[in-house]
Amino acid sequence: MSENLNLVSSTQEIIGEALNKLGFDEGMYDLIKEPMRLLTVRIPVRMDDGTVKTFTGYRAQHNDAVGPTKGGVRFHPDVDVEEVTALSMWMTLKCGIVDLPYGGGKGGIVCDPRTMSIHEVERLSRGYVRSISQIVGPTKDIPAPDVFTNSQIMAWMMDEYSQMDAFNSPGFITGKPLVLGGSQGRDRSTALGVVIAIEQAAKRRGKTIEGSRVVIQGFGNAGSFLAKFLFDQGAKIVGISDAYGALHDPEGLDIDYLLDRRDSFGTVTNLFDETISNKELFEIDCDILVPAAISNQITEENANDIKAEIIVEAANGPTTMGATKILSERGILLVPDVLASAGGVTVSYFEWVQNNQGYYWTEEEVNEKLREKLVKAFDTIYNLSENRKIDMRLAAYIVGIKRTAEAARYRGWA
Ligand code: GLU
Repeated sequence: MSENLNLVSSTQEIIGEALNKLGFDEGMYDLIKEPMRLLTVRIPVRMDDGTVKTFTGYRAQHNDAVGPTKGGVRFHPDVDVEEVTALSMWMTLKCGIVDLPYGGGKGGIVCDPRTMSIHEVERLSRGYVRSISQIVGPTKDIPAPDVFTNSQIMAWMMDEYSQMDAFNSPGFITGKPLVLGGSQGRDRSTALGVVIAIEQAAKRRGKTIEGSRVVIQGFGNAGSFLAKFLFDQGAKIVGISDAYGALHDPEGLDIDYLLDRRDSFGTVTNLFDETISNKELFEIDCDILVPAAISNQITEENANDIKAEIIVEAANGPTTMGATKILSERGILLVPDVLASAGGVTVSYFEWVQNNQGYYWTEEEVNEKLREKLVKAFDTIYNLSENRKIDMRLAAYIVGIKRTAEAARYRGWA
């Protein structure tokens, strides 16, 4: 039988197990197993050649028992309801794990910004905000960047919302440019969170970042900043990939050189004659493996070929449930996405707080608060997994879903 690659049903299965361990009944599972609100929109956009093209977009709001929902907007050809739904559930878990006063949300548009002009992307971004305007807002649901969206897109979206609202609404969206109320450190916060998770995991295995051999899948926002942080701390980045191929050098790649040459979508391998496949990337001999690209990359098929002792998930959903089990049996320490990649939303929360109070913090303050939250979350989840003899993913789901379930019970929703 082939393994379950459905992101929603595998997430539901672990949420069910977590709620069960927490002592909640079927009614609670029934409430939490699906988003409370899921909107599909069609967005007509005038293209540069004068024709009109209609795009499909989504916004899922998983659960707002704790507070407004929060999560990014993804622009990608593979976006679909299933993906947006699962991503919104993972946002609930992330916010619970780092204790932010939010529930999870997520949005996406089926499009390929790599083939669109900047003006077409602007019109699409503004059209999306108009289409979802009824259900979003600074105290309802707060979007942010995700795959192939950036601070410029957040600026257009904020402007569109502010124009409709007829007043400036910086707290409508996070990940904005600094001059529009963005937070210091937000652009690199996902990567910094992953570095903190790597550092904590390495410590538990008697290792340090310095001298470790690391493979990173993906050279986008998370992957590229991460490579730079680790490289600067003395790690050897022995493999890296983009959507088209991968590079391998057992002596360590020159990350500064690659960063100089990557395009805005993280493409870099097209400049090299000697590349390896994605499959080969996962088989590289290394200490730490960081999937920082897309979902379902480590499966039952390749889980046994992985040489790394530590896996830290910077992407959302990169490892299947079947693979998680194999890796755990093999004694590999796997730090799950909902913990390792929570740095982005944490600093998004700090951005929203700064917008609400109109008082801005230094990058040192932001990074210090981020570190405090992530180290605490890592300790709690690691200790739970050790004490209960469960893998870190289930431990993270238990910690992540507890607050939403308790808030829902107080409200009388289940
Ligand atoms: N898209 C990011 C994530 O998946 C950040 C979300 C946010 O900042 O709200 O965690």
